Amino acid sequence: MGHEDGSQSAYDAVETGDELVSWSRAYCRRAASDYDFDVDLHRVEWEVSTRAKRRAAAVKTPTVDDATVGEPKQWDSASSHSNRLGGPPTCTMSLSWRAFESFDRGEWAATLRHELVHVEQFQAFGATDHGPAFKRRAEAVDAPVRVRRFAEPKYVLTCEDCGADVAYRYRECKLVRESAAYRSACCEAPLDCRKQEG
Ligand SMILES: [Zn+2]
Ligand SMILES: [Zn+2]
Repeated sequence: MGHEDGSQSAYDAVETGDELVSWSRAYCRRAASDYDFDVDLHRVEWEVSTRAKRRAAAVKTPTVDDATVGEPKQWDSASSHSNRLGGPPTCTMSLSWRAFESFDRGEWAATLRHELVHVEQFQAFGATDHGPAFKRRAEAVDAPVRVRRFAEPKYVLTCEDCGADVAYRYRECKLVRESAAYRSACCEAPLDCRKQEG
């Protein structure tokens, strides 16, 4: 079964960069048909970055001359970046390992859909940005317009008595779900859990 089916159990089983690519590719193939992305995934390469970057993921594209979002690009066989005839140049989906570690499956999948909008724009126009067309498309595929900076924890747990921050969590877990059942070290008081918007 491996990491090919995009399921929760497959996601939880991801332990290496290769497995993360494999899961993410499989997810993108499915999302492309589920959400009607107009993308050619054969022209997407994948990499995992283990460097401490704050961006969860990024699409790296070659620079295309005279390209503007909204103006369809006629890819011709003379395109110097293209390794196939008559198509857009290859771009690279770069995934951050640290972001994967701090995102749950739903948020990771939404991040991939955000990046697929970039791929779609790039393949259509030779350029991509976060402008009005991006926003409309991101909303249509249920993706965030801005991906959460993964250095920010998703949940902050505070002491109900004194209000001190006592813990941060990047993913939903037992502490998050049952925060009131735990006690703070400072006041022996129940914990409040606050979800950060992002
Ligand atoms: Zn983006
Ligand atoms: Zn306290």
